[in-house]
Amino acid sequence: MTDLGAFDRAHIWHPYTSMTDPIPAFAVESAAGVRIRLHDGRELIDGMASWWCAIHGYNHPELNRAAERQLGKMAHVMFGGLTHEPAVRLAQALIDMTPTPLQHVFFADSGSVAVEVAIKMAIQFHAAQAVDQRRPTADKLMTIRGGYHGDTFGAMAVCDPVSGMHERFARVLPEHLFLDRPATRFGESLESREIEVAEQQMRRHRDRIAAFILEPIVQGAGGMWFYSADYLREIAALCARYDILLIADEIATGFGRTGRMFACEHAGVVPDMLCLGKALTGGYMTLAATLTTERVAHGVSADGSVLAHGPTFMANPLATAVAAESIRLLQASPWQQRIAAIECQLRDELERYADYPAVEDVRELGAIGVVECGHSINVAEVQQRFVDEGVWLRPFGNLIYLMPPYIIEPEDLRLLTDAVALAL
Ligand code: PMP
Repeated sequence: MTDLGAFDRAHIWHPYTSMTDPIPAFAVESAAGVRIRLHDGRELIDGMASWWCAIHGYNHPELNRAAERQLGKMAHVMFGGLTHEPAVRLAQALIDMTPTPLQHVFFADSGSVAVEVAIKMAIQFHAAQAVDQRRPTADKLMTIRGGYHGDTFGAMAVCDPVSGMHERFARVLPEHLFLDRPATRFGESLESREIEVAEQQMRRHRDRIAAFILEPIVQGAGGMWFYSADYLREIAALCARYDILLIADEIATGFGRTGRMFACEHAGVVPDMLCLGKALTGGYMTLAATLTTERVAHGVSADGSVLAHGPTFMANPLATAVAAESIRLLQASPWQQRIAAIECQLRDELERYADYPAVEDVRELGAIGVVECGHSINVAEVQQRFVDEGVWLRPFGNLIYLMPPYIIEPEDLRLLTDAVALAL
């Protein structure tokens, strides 16, 4: 058989890698529970949940059964002019588990696309209203620095202009309005100055701003920063005051990761649009959703136009069937206790690293643990050490972070937190 590693290195891109100097990729043979089995027989304890996704662990019998059941009926069918039970069941589950005003669902094929759709909804909403009210069309977005919303062009334009990994495209991206990253940490009360600046900017540009987009409470790929719930609450209040739609990107935070089912709940905030993805299918396959209110859904078409998006694999039956089952599994599990226990253990076991000279900060929230270093980490080198130690952790930038499947046992989590020392 072809040497997987050699062929891969020569021909296949991985996320954010170079074809001329690729970082090594380890060949995986299978995965089950919290264990990833490599081709050479080694087993790694998974501390990444495949980037927020595999909340129930890998190869889950119930999720497998849901996929197999659906496979016996149809893997896919177009969504233009057709509908099916998995899509309807999943939409119903999402509407039931999110705040009451969110009643309408757009199924997209990845998180970035769900963000694009939310942006389109906001711009179309204001354009349709402008016809009646003769107001200038609001077509800008406001956001906070340090954010990450995806790799497509619309999404890139609202990522952090520096840490968002998209600087190269600055000249071709639409220009939006950025506020500083909220400095007040989660659990701390907000400095009024932070919100005064936001208010000034929102008041000044209110006629141009279609929506405010942010990741509630946890900024993920832009720096794993946990910020004050007061900030989120104040921004939501300002959006309501200035008729700016609020887009909550919960693609990473949704489905329990921060200790609440959705991170907006920490602040009691109900957004106008809610973007979901990643753990939506329990990490089985790609699927995302943008939920919105009746006001926005109807407002988009107030001028008789349609919502201008329709991906080929919209509401894919296999993905929606597995997603519905993943939500059922999550809701039937003691997820709050599990995540509280993970948070507690992360706090107990990571705080010792705060004294290491290389470490700037250690923080935990829900099933997320972060060790922030003062310098950037050599990923290839550290990755090899982790694999030799039997754990799967993937640092990025100056961050080592843990976000294990919720089913992880304390002994396995202990091996992950111990392994962090190797990188320091
Ligand atoms: N929004 C957030 C908050 C994310 O973390 C990500 C993925 N890292 C995305 C959007 C984009 O999702 P996808 O990679 O599925 O396009």
